Amino acid sequence: MELKEKIGFYKVCFDSMQAGILVFNDSRDIILSNIPISLLFEYSSEELRKFKACKLFKNCGVLKNFIQNSEKQKFKSLIELIGIKKNGQEFPVEVSFGKIEYEGMPYFKLLLTDITLRKKREKKIKSLNYQLEEEVKLRNIELENLIEKLKKSLSKEKELNFLKTKFIALASHEFKTPLSAILSSTELMAKYADLNNIEKRNEHLSKIKSVINHLNNMLDDLLTLENIESGEINLNSTKFKLTNLINEIYKNSKPLLKNNQQLIFNNTNDEGEIYHDYKIITIILTNLLNNAIKYSNENGIIKVDITSNKKNIYFSVEDQGIGIPVNEQNLIFNRFFRAKNALYYPGTGIGLNIVKGYIQNLNGTISFESVENNGTIFKVQLPKLKLL
Ligand code: ADP
Repeated sequence: MELKEKIGFYKVCFDSMQAGILVFNDSRDIILSNIPISLLFEYSSEELRKFKACKLFKNCGVLKNFIQNSEKQKFKSLIELIGIKKNGQEFPVEVSFGKIEYEGMPYFKLLLTDITLRKKREKKIKSLNYQLEEEVKLRNIELENLIEKLKKSLSKEKELNFLKTKFIALASHEFKTPLSAILSSTELMAKYADLNNIEKRNEHLSKIKSVINHLNNMLDDLLTLENIESGEINLNSTKFKLTNLINEIYKNSKPLLKNNQQLIFNNTNDEGEIYHDYKIITIILTNLLNNAIKYSNENGIIKVDITSNKKNIYFSVEDQGIGIPVNEQNLIFNRFFRAKNALYYPGTGIGLNIVKGYIQNLNGTISFESVENNGTIFKVQLPKLKLL
């Protein structure tokens, strides 16, 4: 092959490379470039040879640095730069540097690849990653919420189990006594029927009624416990006279009175009809009144005051009974709590918990004052409900 032909052959090899090749001297004047460089930067090879390599890159400092420190490690690997086309458009390129010598002169070569596509893909992957991370974060939050909910229902489940165990203990204790009272009364009634003693029979009938009432209240208490806890109280409001409600409570509580116990109702409400939940007020007042009767000795006086104004209904139930020990007074609204001095009396420790739950749900207040062996007074304020 002739020298001329050889040069032609080298040029074909040079131009057919896939990567762009740029050769410049230590003053950064472009000496050589192949066709891919012209295609990428949109300059002819003649145009390119008229200016410095710096014109093709945004960050020319790297070229200067390479010329001065070509042996440095960082120039042995691929470097990303920003190329500038003839029309000023910028695009990302990846270059590898190399130093060559020809006839005792140093030259610097640069192998360049257009990485626009790769960068676009990387950007897309980055944004997908970001989306994925956001999605994961969201899922994590959802998961945490779910765990929180599960924890709550687990503790509710535990509480329910505890309640069941407690209930079984209560049922065997608290239900057995009244049931055997009913049994013995019915047996005696049968006996008096033979003897035609109507007075005695009626006495036992009213005893049975009162014991059944007591059982009923206890069951009501247990059934309402769950609703109160979850705040799911369905108000069933009707118009009624407070006086009628008081009369009913008086009638139901009277048979529970012990020997010579006196029950005094002082009703100073305005006598008009009120709009409220009849059953809830009955449960509250009955619980307080039955406690006053239960925890008072024979001969004790129990006073119930009822009054109302435009906005509120006020009750107070006062007794001269065993009182609540000072060191236990802060616990008496807790579910199942019973003070030490109350343990000789039947009870479940549920009533006051329910009373407080109802009152809180109705935005009312309850307070008490008590002196051990002297007596207790409970005071309740209930806002009146608005007629819809
Ligand atoms: P129970 O009466 O079934 O034990 P409650 O929830 O009604 O349950 O009352 C909780 C506790 O508060 C009682 O066990 C008792 O110690 C105390 N208590 C409530 N009312 C009175 C009262 N009028 N006099 C003395 N102690 C009371």
